[in-house]
Amino acid sequence: MIRKGMKLYSILFGACPKCHQESMYVNKNPYAISEVLKMHDHCSHCKTKYQMEPSFFYGSMYVSYGVGIAFSVAAFIISYVILGFSETVGFISIVGTLLVFFPIIMRLSRNIWINIFMKYDKSLVKK
Ligand SMILES: [Zn+2]
Repeated sequence: MIRKGMKLYSILFGACPKCHQESMYVNKNPYAISEVLKMHDHCSHCKTKYQMEPSFFYGSMYVSYGVGIAFSVAAFIISYVILGFSETVGFISIVGTLLVFFPIIMRLSRNIWINIFMKYDKSLVKK
């Protein structure tokens, strides 16, 4: 199962990449569109600065391309292969999926990006 201490925990739940004790985001709900990218500056628990350098999260755009492809392929396989719809419906489902999951894709990308550069540190948990 997914538990604190695993990179996947921080990626899926947007938890601080170093201590996994709190969310990096001001609003945990990604569908609060005006706050989708609003992040705390520091972790209140371990004081990790999330934006390690200016424009750090621009790099997550590279990740979001891959995440978007993964969602698109999944949407196409579900509609075209599993449900047996036409190719046109398959492509419409790709566009729909990307629109509906846009906030989740953006947050997943940021979470993956920051977890490439930071890793879980058990000693920070008890502080
Ligand atoms: Zn932390």
